Amino acid sequence: MAEKIKCLIIGSGPAGYTAAIYAARADMKPVMYTGMQMGGQLTTTTEVDNFPGYPNGTDGTAMMEDLKSQAERFGTDVRFGMVTKVEFSDKEGGIHKVVVDETTEIEAETVIISTGATAKYLGLESEQRLIGGGVSACATCDGFFYKGQDVIVVGAGDTAAEEATYLANICNKVTMLVRKDYMRASKAMQHRVNKTENIEVLYNTEIDEVLGSNVVEGVRAVNNQTGDKKDISVTGVFIAIGHTPNTQLFKGVLDMDETGYLLTKGKSTKTNLPGVFAAGDVQDKEYRQAVTAAGTGCMAALDAERYLGALE
Ligand SMILES: Cc1cc2nc3c(=O)[nH]c(=O)nc-3n(C[C@H](O)[C@H](O)[C@H](O)COP(=O)(O)OP(=O)(O)OC[C@H]3O[C@@H](n4cnc5c(N)ncnc54)[C@H](O)[C@@H]3O)c2cc1C
Repeated sequence: MAEKIKCLIIGSGPAGYTAAIYAARADMKPVMYTGMQMGGQLTTTTEVDNFPGYPNGTDGTAMMEDLKSQAERFGTDVRFGMVTKVEFSDKEGGIHKVVVDETTEIEAETVIISTGATAKYLGLESEQRLIGGGVSACATCDGFFYKGQDVIVVGAGDTAAEEATYLANICNKVTMLVRKDYMRASKAMQHRVNKTENIEVLYNTEIDEVLGSNVVEGVRAVNNQTGDKKDISVTGVFIAIGHTPNTQLFKGVLDMDETGYLLTKGKSTKTNLPGVFAAGDVQDKEYRQAVTAAGTGCMAALDAERYLGALE
């Protein structure tokens, strides 16, 4: 027998927990499935300095524990589990069927999807070892820690160009490593990069190895045309080669853009199916911050509550 609930929240990042706080306080008795990464992306970072309410900054994992406690205080049922199948109704007031860990069946009147996105990395052993020790996938989040220092940005698209110009305002020097002999970024963004004095672009160049044992001390760059290697002394390495939204499960079910991000209607969190809402990085490739994820989590719970209210 499937368990029948009013509100299911999929994912336990800032969007999911904020949705849970609002849904629980609205007496929707939300059930949350956390996925494999309980607490979401922020559990992979030590210092979060830009979330409002923490004047001295906080540890990412501790912050997510706080959010979990707050959601549970109002009665959210937080469960460890991975949603493995969805069968959403396309009818107003229809019941959405979800399977967790391939066994547990849930029938929900509303579903809030907050499955986030995963930053892409190069996959080098030295890079993986130094994530949090100078390797980052988010300049807006971590750039400030490298104020006045020299850093590397890896990537050639708009995001990489944006991260490079953002960092150039904070850091002493930014070296951009571009794999091909051209950038994919828009002409406008390339122009911004090229006219920024403290950005140097190295084309046909990749990272061979990130140098340093506990913290980044530099990179060994390799020219992929000549094979020439050179060490560049930096303290930060920003990987800006894109993100993958965690939406595999919803392919063919929910409307997405060409890169797999869920599409929501206007300023709301409504997806193309009634009673199914999306919040956080899973529907936002623009801002990708904890506070914006939390903001849309709040919106999703309010949208879900209003949807149920209108059915009565
Ligand atoms: C290294 C790093 C440092 C960062 N630092 C900062 C910072 O300092 N400040 C800031 O504002 N932002 C920072 N960010 C960005 C921030 O972490 C994200 O914007 C934010 O976490 C997005 O929240 P979210 O709730 O949308 O999703 P996420 O945090 O991505 O969480 C997604 C959740 O969905 C779950 N999930 C996925 N699939 C399933 C499934 N099938 N079933 C059930 N659950 C599922 C996962 O387990 C996870 O709990 C950082 C990101 C990274 C990677």
